[in-house]
Amino acid sequence: MNQLQENRSGGNEPMEATCDNCGDLTRIKYQRNEYPRGLQETYFKCESCDKKFSCFVTDGKVRKMQKDIRKEKDTLVRYNMQTEISTRMKELKRKVNRGI
Ligand SMILES: [Zn+2]
Repeated sequence: MNQLQENRSGGNEPMEATCDNCGDLTRIKYQRNEYPRGLQETYFKCESCDKKFSCFVTDGKVRKMQKDIRKEKDTLVRYNMQTEISTRMKELKRKVNRGI
C-alpha cells in the first residue's frame, strides 16, 4: 500500500489503495471502532473483498501523548515521544487484531 500518499492530489479527493488481500483498487473510507478501556481503532475495509485494514489504534495514553507532542518544542524530546507513541500503537494494534 505504498501508493497511499502519492494518490493524494491535494483536495478532498478520496484516497485509494491497492488491497493486499485481493489486489483490487479500493477507496479508503476511514471508520472507527471503539473498544473497552478507551481503545479506538481507525480502519477501512476493502470495497471488493471486505477485508479490514487496521490503520491505527490509540488509547487514552497515546492520545494524551499526541496532544503533548504538539506543545513540545524540543526536537529530540519530540522524536522520543513519537517513538514511544509508535511503539505503543503497534502494540495496541496487535492486541486489537488478536481480538483483545
Ligand atoms: Zn480486497
